[in-house]
Amino acid sequence: PGVPSIILNRESEVRGYCRGWPTTFTTAKGSWITDTSGRKYLDFFAGAGSLNYGHNHPVLKEALLDYLSKDGITHGLDMATVAKKEFLETFEEKLLKPRGLDYKVQFPGPTGTNSVEAALKLARKATGREAIINFTNAFHGMTLGALSVTGNSMKRAGAGIPLVHATPMPYDNYFGGVTEDFQWFERVLDDSGSGLNRPAAVIVETVQGEGGVNVARYEWLRALADLCARRDILLIVDDVQMGCGRTGPFFSFEAAGIKPDIVTISKSISGYGLPMALTLFKPELDIWTPGEHNGTFRGNNPAFVTARLAIETFWADNAIELETARKGEKIAERFEALAQEIGGLQHRGRGMVQGLVFDEPELASAACEIAFNNGMLAETSGPSDEVVKLLPPLTLTDEELNLGLDILSDAARQ
Ligand code: PMP
Repeated sequence: PGVPSIILNRESEVRGYCRGWPTTFTTAKGSWITDTSGRKYLDFFAGAGSLNYGHNHPVLKEALLDYLSKDGITHGLDMATVAKKEFLETFEEKLLKPRGLDYKVQFPGPTGTNSVEAALKLARKATGREAIINFTNAFHGMTLGALSVTGNSMKRAGAGIPLVHATPMPYDNYFGGVTEDFQWFERVLDDSGSGLNRPAAVIVETVQGEGGVNVARYEWLRALADLCARRDILLIVDDVQMGCGRTGPFFSFEAAGIKPDIVTISKSISGYGLPMALTLFKPELDIWTPGEHNGTFRGNNPAFVTARLAIETFWADNAIELETARKGEKIAERFEALAQEIGGLQHRGRGMVQGLVFDEPELASAACEIAFNNGMLAETSGPSDEVVKLLPPLTLTDEELNLGLDILSDAARQ
């Protein structure tokens, strides 16, 4: 079916995905997406991590259709609505309380980037300091604040220089797997000549998705949290991509045993691919004055409805967490074996975010192209797009998982 000419000619050159997947998609269900010729593709991209429970999950769809059929409110700014009240009740009872977490919830706007912007602004307001520490290969979004703490030079280039003051530090394993004990960080913080202003906050991903599936060890994250606590620096965990169960637990940082001061959540929170974002922060950080940080699309009520149902359906027990660990292990084993078999490959991952790292970046894109031709969507990530990153729905069946791994293994061999 190809990409329609109106899209090729009218939509800006900035479009990306239709280059890698040159077809026109029409419907999607579970782990599958269909194009206009009726061809089905196994979706190991899942809306860049926004579809952790697959496309059009029947329980969520029914709730959404029921809500709309009764003229439920769709757009609510930050008015009080029943859909919002019920979402917050469920979020508190089913997610926060069982985990011993106490966070105030801000609805910062529709996207992950909005959540990051609110987090950075709040950290700066709360501390009265302006500098932010970010990490090599970080990705936090495309607006100027979020872009300032993003590493990717291609994405930064068009924004002009300087961006907002941010100082990148090396992420875990940046120096070839050597255990960094944060002496470097302590040293520059103590050194008045280091050029580093005392930072307001550190922003970190527990696994860098866009940065190439770079996995921070739990002890590294604990050392970071400890340093932030000792130095009175706020710790922001950006859980936009790794939250909502992608690495196993609902909040990816749970497994490290840390409690960040501020957390960003978006992507899969609605459970249905609907725009929704949360910024969570410790209650004492709720120093906003009313209306100080607003936005028109803070109240996506259909998203509240599906988000509540997603929590109730998937997070009443820890079954999905165990399944994610089991399936992730399976992908990891297959990738390790593949790396042994064909060389020029490495594997990295945690839970259901798994990457196949190619020595030669063009081979990663070629593998994705072959996989597409054989009926599967997977995307590349990393600074040179050298990593095939798998983000399948957490709910996919073992048959679907095996099929996807067969297709990708074949593509890698070719
Ligand atoms: N933070 C992280 C860790 C992300 O992966 C992304 C999106 N890839 C964002 C922020 C930005 O989210 P959005 O694209 O929804 O604005």
